[in-house]
Amino acid sequence: MAEKVTLAVSWAAACGGCDVSILDMEERVLALAELAEIVYWPVALDFKRSDLAARPDNSVDIGLFNGAVRTAEQREDAELFAAKCKVLVAFGSCACFGGIPGLANLAPKTQLIETVYRDTPSTDNAEEIRPQTECTIDGQTLTLPALWETVSSLNQVVEVDLFAPGCPPPGERVGELFDAVARFAQSGSLPPPQTVLASDKALCDSCPRAETRTAERMARIVRPHEITADPSRCFLDQGLLCLGIATRGGCSATCIEANMPCRGCFGPTAEMLDSGAEALSAIGTLAGEANENDVAPHQMKKTVKSIVDPAGTFYRFGLPKAIINQGMNDKPKKDSP
Ligand code: SF4
Ligand code: SF4
Repeated sequence: MAEKVTLAVSWAAACGGCDVSILDMEERVLALAELAEIVYWPVALDFKRSDLAARPDNSVDIGLFNGAVRTAEQREDAELFAAKCKVLVAFGSCACFGGIPGLANLAPKTQLIETVYRDTPSTDNAEEIRPQTECTIDGQTLTLPALWETVSSLNQVVEVDLFAPGCPPPGERVGELFDAVARFAQSGSLPPPQTVLASDKALCDSCPRAETRTAERMARIVRPHEITADPSRCFLDQGLLCLGIATRGGCSATCIEANMPCRGCFGPTAEMLDSGAEALSAIGTLAGEANENDVAPHQMKKTVKSIVDPAGTFYRFGLPKAIINQGMNDKPKKDSP
Protein backbone atom coordinates (compact mmCIF):
# COMPACT_ATOMS: atom_id res chain seq x y z
CA MET A 1 0.00 0.00 0.00
CA ALA A 2 1.88 3.08 -1.23
CA GLU A 3 -0.47 5.81 -0.05
CA LYS A 4 -0.86 6.94 3.51
CA VAL A 5 -3.37 5.17 5.71
CA THR A 6 -6.36 7.38 6.44
CA LEU A 7 -7.25 7.62 10.12
CA ALA A 8 -10.29 8.99 11.95
CA VAL A 9 -10.48 9.46 15.72
CA SER A 10 -13.48 10.46 17.79
CA TRP A 11 -15.02 10.23 21.22
CA ALA A 12 -18.44 9.72 22.76
CA ALA A 13 -19.18 9.40 26.52
CA ALA A 14 -15.54 9.87 27.48
CA CYS A 15 -13.27 11.86 29.75
CA GLY A 16 -10.67 12.78 27.14
CA GLY A 17 -8.00 10.51 28.65
CA CYS A 18 -8.01 8.21 25.63
CA ASP A 19 -7.31 11.09 23.26
CA VAL A 20 -4.52 12.25 25.56
CA SER A 21 -3.03 8.73 25.53
CA ILE A 22 -2.54 9.08 21.77
CA LEU A 23 -0.83 12.44 22.19
CA ASP A 24 1.24 10.96 25.04
CA MET A 25 3.07 8.86 22.46
CA GLU A 26 5.14 12.01 21.85
CA GLU A 27 7.59 11.47 18.99
CA ARG A 28 5.72 8.33 17.91
CA VAL A 29 2.77 10.54 17.03
CA LEU A 30 5.07 12.24 14.52
CA ALA A 31 6.03 8.83 13.12
CA LEU A 32 2.32 8.04 12.88
CA ALA A 33 1.82 11.26 10.95
CA GLU A 34 4.34 9.96 8.37
CA LEU A 35 2.23 6.86 7.81
CA ALA A 36 -1.25 8.11 8.33
CA GLU A 37 -3.30 11.01 7.15
CA ILE A 38 -5.63 12.10 9.91
CA VAL A 39 -8.91 12.86 8.16
CA TYR A 40 -11.01 13.42 11.29
CA TRP A 41 -10.11 14.11 14.93
CA PRO A 42 -12.33 16.91 16.22
CA VAL A 43 -10.86 16.86 19.73
CA ALA A 44 -7.38 17.67 18.44
CA LEU A 45 -7.85 19.34 15.05
CA ASP A 46 -10.40 21.58 13.40
CA PHE A 47 -12.73 19.01 11.85
CA LYS A 48 -16.50 19.13 11.67
CA ARG A 49 -18.75 16.11 11.69
CA SER A 50 -19.92 17.09 8.21
CA ASP A 51 -16.32 16.51 6.98
CA LEU A 52 -16.56 12.84 7.87
CA ALA A 53 -20.19 12.54 6.76
CA ALA A 54 -19.26 13.90 3.32
CA ARG A 55 -16.72 11.13 2.69
CA PRO A 56 -17.83 8.02 0.76
CA ASP A 57 -18.62 4.92 2.82
CA ASN A 58 -15.60 2.70 3.56
CA SER A 59 -13.21 5.44 2.50
CA VAL A 60 -11.37 5.77 5.84
CA ASP A 61 -8.92 2.96 6.55
CA ILE A 62 -8.96 2.94 10.35
CA GLY A 63 -11.32 4.52 12.88
CA LEU A 64 -10.41 4.83 16.56
CA PHE A 65 -13.54 5.40 18.62
CA ASN A 66 -13.26 6.06 22.34
CA GLY A 67 -15.99 6.48 24.92
CA ALA A 68 -19.26 4.72 25.64
CA VAL A 69 -22.53 5.43 23.83
CA ARG A 70 -25.20 7.26 25.82
CA THR A 71 -26.83 9.91 23.64
CA ALA A 72 -28.58 9.81 20.29
CA GLU A 73 -25.73 11.90 18.86
CA GLN A 74 -23.10 9.47 20.12
CA ARG A 75 -25.00 6.61 18.56
CA GLU A 76 -25.14 8.47 15.25
CA ASP A 77 -21.37 9.08 15.53
CA ALA A 78 -20.77 5.36 16.15
CA GLU A 79 -22.90 4.50 13.11
CA LEU A 80 -21.08 7.12 11.04
CA PHE A 81 -17.70 5.59 12.01
CA ALA A 82 -18.95 2.09 11.23
CA ALA A 83 -20.11 3.27 7.78
CA LYS A 84 -17.04 5.30 6.85
CA CYS A 85 -14.22 3.20 8.33
CA LYS A 86 -12.96 -0.09 6.93
CA VAL A 87 -11.56 -1.10 10.33
CA LEU A 88 -13.25 0.12 13.49
CA VAL A 89 -11.25 0.00 16.74
CA ALA A 90 -12.94 0.26 20.14
CA PHE A 91 -10.26 2.36 21.81
CA GLY A 92 -10.23 2.35 25.61
CA SER A 93 -12.34 0.65 28.25
CA CYS A 94 -15.39 2.90 27.79
CA ALA A 95 -15.67 1.91 24.12
CA CYS A 96 -14.77 -1.74 24.82
CA PHE A 97 -17.03 -2.38 27.83
CA GLY A 98 -18.98 0.79 28.65
CA GLY A 99 -16.38 1.91 31.19
CA ILE A 100 -17.02 4.21 34.12
CA PRO A 101 -19.92 6.00 32.35
CA GLY A 102 -21.57 2.57 32.23
CA LEU A 103 -22.07 2.62 36.00
CA ALA A 104 -24.97 4.95 35.25
CA ASN A 105 -26.87 1.81 34.24
CA LEU A 106 -27.40 1.17 37.95
CA ALA A 107 -30.19 3.78 37.94
CA PRO A 108 -32.99 4.72 35.55
CA LYS A 109 -32.41 7.78 33.40
CA THR A 110 -35.11 9.78 35.21
CA GLN A 111 -33.44 9.14 38.56
CA LEU A 112 -30.08 10.28 37.22
CA ILE A 113 -31.57 13.52 35.96
CA GLU A 114 -33.35 14.20 39.25
CA THR A 115 -30.14 13.53 41.18
CA VAL A 116 -28.08 15.87 39.04
CA TYR A 117 -30.66 18.66 38.59
CA ARG A 118 -32.40 18.51 42.00
CA ASP A 119 -30.84 16.37 44.72
CA THR A 120 -27.12 17.00 44.92
CA PRO A 121 -26.12 19.42 47.71
CA SER A 122 -24.44 21.75 45.22
CA THR A 123 -27.48 22.02 42.93
CA ASP A 124 -28.83 25.55 42.66
CA ASN A 125 -31.90 25.14 40.47
CA ALA A 126 -34.84 26.95 42.11
CA GLU A 127 -36.72 27.01 38.80
CA GLU A 128 -36.43 23.20 38.56
CA ILE A 129 -35.12 23.38 35.02
CA ARG A 130 -34.45 20.04 33.36
CA PRO A 131 -32.53 19.53 30.10
CA GLN A 132 -34.81 19.49 27.04
CA THR A 133 -34.04 18.07 23.61
CA GLU A 134 -35.47 21.25 22.13
CA CYS A 135 -36.18 24.75 23.37
CA THR A 136 -36.83 28.15 21.80
CA ILE A 137 -35.07 31.30 22.97
CA ASP A 138 -35.69 34.65 21.25
CA GLY A 139 -37.25 32.85 18.32
CA GLN A 140 -34.22 30.58 17.91
CA THR A 141 -34.63 26.82 18.34
CA LEU A 142 -31.83 25.12 20.27
CA THR A 143 -31.44 21.36 20.43
CA LEU A 144 -29.63 18.85 22.62
CA PRO A 145 -29.12 15.16 21.82
CA ALA A 146 -31.58 12.82 23.55
CA LEU A 147 -30.28 10.60 26.34
CA TRP A 148 -30.81 6.89 25.85
CA GLU A 149 -32.12 4.93 28.78
CA THR A 150 -28.85 3.01 29.16
CA VAL A 151 -25.14 3.31 28.38
CA SER A 152 -23.74 0.87 25.80
CA SER A 153 -20.31 -0.24 24.74
CA LEU A 154 -19.40 0.45 21.11
CA ASN A 155 -19.94 -3.14 19.97
CA GLN A 156 -23.40 -3.15 21.51
CA VAL A 157 -24.46 -0.63 18.87
CA VAL A 158 -22.22 -1.32 15.85
CA GLU A 159 -19.82 -4.02 14.69
CA VAL A 160 -16.26 -3.58 15.97
CA ASP A 161 -13.12 -5.08 14.39
CA LEU A 162 -10.41 -4.56 17.03
CA PHE A 163 -10.42 -3.83 20.75
CA ALA A 164 -7.79 -1.80 22.59
CA PRO A 165 -8.77 -1.89 26.28
CA GLY A 166 -7.35 0.21 29.10
CA CYS A 167 -8.36 3.33 30.97
CA PRO A 168 -6.71 4.77 29.01
CA PRO A 169 -4.86 2.23 26.84
CA PRO A 170 -1.24 2.27 28.07
CA GLY A 171 1.62 3.44 25.85
CA GLU A 172 2.80 -0.08 25.08
CA ARG A 173 -0.61 -1.02 23.69
CA VAL A 174 -1.06 2.27 21.82
CA GLY A 175 2.38 1.60 20.30
CA GLU A 176 1.16 -1.85 19.26
CA LEU A 177 -1.80 -0.23 17.59
CA PHE A 178 0.48 2.23 15.80
CA ASP A 179 2.61 -0.75 14.65
CA ALA A 180 -0.55 -2.38 13.29
CA VAL A 181 -1.32 0.86 11.41
CA ALA A 182 2.26 0.82 10.03
CA ARG A 183 1.88 -2.79 8.86
CA PHE A 184 -1.42 -1.87 7.31
CA ALA A 185 0.29 1.02 5.47
CA GLN A 186 3.03 -1.28 4.19
CA SER A 187 1.18 -4.47 3.36
CA GLY A 188 -2.51 -3.90 3.98
CA SER A 189 -2.50 -6.58 6.72
CA LEU A 190 -4.14 -6.21 10.10
CA PRO A 191 -4.66 -8.46 13.15
CA PRO A 192 -7.62 -10.85 12.69
CA PRO A 193 -11.07 -9.36 13.35
CA GLN A 194 -12.12 -9.27 17.02
CA THR A 195 -8.49 -9.26 18.20
CA VAL A 196 -8.02 -7.71 21.62
CA LEU A 197 -4.72 -5.84 21.75
CA ALA A 198 -3.68 -7.24 25.12
CA SER A 199 -2.66 -10.51 26.75
CA ASP A 200 -4.88 -13.60 26.59
CA LYS A 201 -4.14 -14.38 30.23
CA ALA A 202 -5.22 -12.85 33.51
CA LEU A 203 -3.00 -10.15 35.00
CA CYS A 204 -1.94 -12.44 37.89
CA ASP A 205 -0.08 -14.50 35.30
CA SER A 206 2.42 -11.71 34.67
CA CYS A 207 2.18 -9.85 37.97
CA PRO A 208 5.52 -9.26 39.73
CA ARG A 209 3.82 -10.15 43.04
CA ALA A 210 2.31 -13.44 41.87
CA GLU A 211 5.02 -15.50 43.59
CA THR A 212 4.12 -14.01 46.96
CA ARG A 213 0.46 -15.01 46.78
CA THR A 214 -0.43 -17.49 49.51
CA ALA A 215 -4.21 -17.63 49.11
CA GLU A 216 -4.56 -16.74 52.78
CA ARG A 217 -8.11 -16.16 53.93
CA MET A 218 -9.31 -12.57 53.84
CA ALA A 219 -10.79 -12.07 57.29
CA ARG A 220 -11.21 -8.36 56.66
CA ILE A 221 -11.33 -6.39 53.47
CA VAL A 222 -9.63 -3.02 53.53
CA ARG A 223 -9.55 -0.15 51.07
CA PRO A 224 -6.26 1.26 49.73
CA HIS A 225 -6.41 4.41 51.89
CA GLU A 226 -6.85 2.39 55.11
CA ILE A 227 -3.44 0.72 55.14
CA THR A 228 0.01 1.25 53.72
CA ALA A 229 0.33 -1.71 51.41
CA ASP A 230 3.51 -3.75 51.49
CA PRO A 231 4.85 -3.26 47.94
CA SER A 232 6.40 -6.73 47.90
CA ARG A 233 3.27 -8.81 48.65
CA CYS A 234 0.14 -9.77 46.77
CA PHE A 235 -2.66 -7.34 47.59
CA LEU A 236 -5.14 -10.12 48.28
CA ASP A 237 -2.95 -11.43 51.09
CA GLN A 238 -3.12 -7.96 52.63
CA GLY A 239 -6.92 -7.80 52.53
CA LEU A 240 -6.99 -5.44 49.54
CA LEU A 241 -9.29 -6.30 46.65
CA CYS A 242 -7.16 -6.77 43.56
CA LEU A 243 -9.03 -7.67 40.39
CA GLY A 244 -5.93 -9.02 38.63
CA ILE A 245 -7.38 -12.48 39.26
CA ALA A 246 -10.23 -11.80 36.80
CA THR A 247 -8.78 -9.15 34.48
CA ARG A 248 -6.97 -9.53 31.19
CA GLY A 249 -3.26 -8.70 31.44
CA GLY A 250 -1.26 -6.59 29.02
CA CYS A 251 -1.21 -3.35 30.98
CA SER A 252 2.41 -3.82 32.14
CA ALA A 253 0.96 -4.00 35.68
CA THR A 254 1.22 -0.22 35.87
CA CYS A 255 -1.13 0.12 38.85
CA ILE A 256 0.55 -2.76 40.73
CA GLU A 257 3.94 -1.11 40.17
CA ALA A 258 2.48 2.07 41.67
CA ASN A 259 1.36 -0.01 44.71
CA MET A 260 -2.32 0.17 43.78
CA PRO A 261 -4.47 -2.94 43.30
CA CYS A 262 -5.80 -3.74 39.82
CA ARG A 263 -9.23 -2.19 39.24
CA GLY A 264 -10.10 -4.24 36.17
CA CYS A 265 -9.85 -1.78 33.28
CA PHE A 266 -8.62 -4.41 30.79
CA GLY A 267 -11.84 -6.40 31.15
CA PRO A 268 -12.27 -10.16 30.94
CA THR A 269 -10.10 -12.68 29.10
CA ALA A 270 -11.72 -14.63 26.25
CA GLU A 271 -12.53 -17.51 28.63
CA MET A 272 -14.38 -15.33 31.13
CA LEU A 273 -18.06 -14.76 30.65
CA ASP A 274 -18.28 -11.88 33.12
CA SER A 275 -15.17 -10.53 34.85
CA GLY A 276 -17.09 -8.99 37.76
CA ALA A 277 -18.78 -12.30 38.54
CA GLU A 278 -15.45 -14.12 38.18
CA ALA A 279 -13.77 -11.72 40.61
CA LEU A 280 -16.65 -11.91 43.08
CA SER A 281 -16.56 -15.68 42.95
CA ALA A 282 -12.78 -15.76 43.51
CA ILE A 283 -13.01 -13.31 46.41
CA GLY A 284 -15.86 -15.37 47.86
CA THR A 285 -13.61 -18.41 48.03
CA LEU A 286 -10.95 -16.43 49.88
CA ALA A 287 -13.25 -14.54 52.24
CA GLY A 288 -13.69 -15.39 55.90
CA GLU A 289 -11.49 -16.42 58.76
CA ALA A 290 -10.52 -20.11 58.64
CA ASN A 291 -11.03 -22.21 61.73
CA GLU A 292 -9.87 -25.74 62.32
CA ASN A 293 -12.54 -27.31 60.17
CA ASP A 294 -13.41 -24.84 57.51
CA VAL A 295 -14.63 -21.32 56.98
CA ALA A 296 -17.80 -20.53 58.89
CA PRO A 297 -20.43 -19.25 56.42
CA HIS A 298 -21.32 -16.33 58.67
CA GLN A 299 -17.68 -15.20 58.70
CA MET A 300 -17.52 -15.41 54.92
CA LYS A 301 -20.76 -13.44 54.63
CA LYS A 302 -19.47 -10.81 57.06
CA THR A 303 -16.28 -10.36 55.04
CA VAL A 304 -18.08 -10.11 51.70
CA LYS A 305 -20.64 -7.71 53.19
CA SER A 306 -17.81 -5.43 54.30
CA ILE A 307 -17.04 -4.61 50.66
CA VAL A 308 -17.91 -0.96 50.13
CA ASP A 309 -19.65 -0.31 46.79
CA PRO A 310 -19.62 -3.85 45.35
CA ALA A 311 -21.09 -2.77 41.99
CA GLY A 312 -18.52 -0.02 41.58
CA THR A 313 -15.76 -2.36 42.69
CA PHE A 314 -16.52 -5.40 40.55
CA TYR A 315 -18.14 -3.65 37.57
CA ARG A 316 -16.23 -0.37 37.53
CA PHE A 317 -15.44 -0.71 33.82
CA GLY A 318 -17.81 -3.30 32.46
CA LEU A 319 -21.36 -2.98 33.76
CA PRO A 320 -23.04 -2.49 30.33
CA LYS A 321 -21.63 -5.82 29.16
CA ALA A 322 -22.17 -7.69 32.42
CA ILE A 323 -24.76 -10.43 32.69
CA ILE A 324 -26.39 -8.56 35.58
CA ASN A 325 -26.87 -5.50 33.34
CA GLN A 326 -28.70 -7.54 30.74
CA GLY A 327 -31.03 -8.70 33.52
CA MET A 328 -31.60 -5.16 34.78
CA ASN A 329 -32.04 -3.36 31.51
CA ASP A 330 -32.91 -5.88 28.85
CA LYS A 331 -30.71 -5.59 25.78
CA PRO A 332 -29.25 -2.08 25.31
CA LYS A 333 -29.73 -2.42 21.53
CA LYS A 334 -33.50 -2.27 22.03
CA ASP A 335 -33.15 0.91 23.97
CA SER A 336 -34.73 4.15 22.81
CA PRO A 337 -34.16 7.80 23.71
S1 SF4 B 1 -11.38 4.54 28.97
FE1 SF4 B 1 -10.75 5.78 30.74
S2 SF4 B 1 -9.40 7.34 29.85
FE2 SF4 B 1 -10.61 6.49 28.14
S3 SF4 B 1 -12.42 7.82 27.97
FE3 SF4 B 1 -12.98 6.11 29.31
S4 SF4 B 1 -12.61 6.90 31.43
FE4 SF4 B 1 -11.47 8.23 29.98
S1 SF4 C 1 -4.11 -10.56 42.88
FE1 SF4 C 1 -3.18 -8.63 42.20
S2 SF4 C 1 -1.29 -8.40 43.41
FE2 SF4 C 1 -1.96 -10.54 43.58
S3 SF4 C 1 -0.84 -11.62 41.99
FE3 SF4 C 1 -2.84 -11.03 41.09
S4 SF4 C 1 -2.50 -9.05 40.11
FE4 SF4 C 1 -0.76 -9.43 41.49
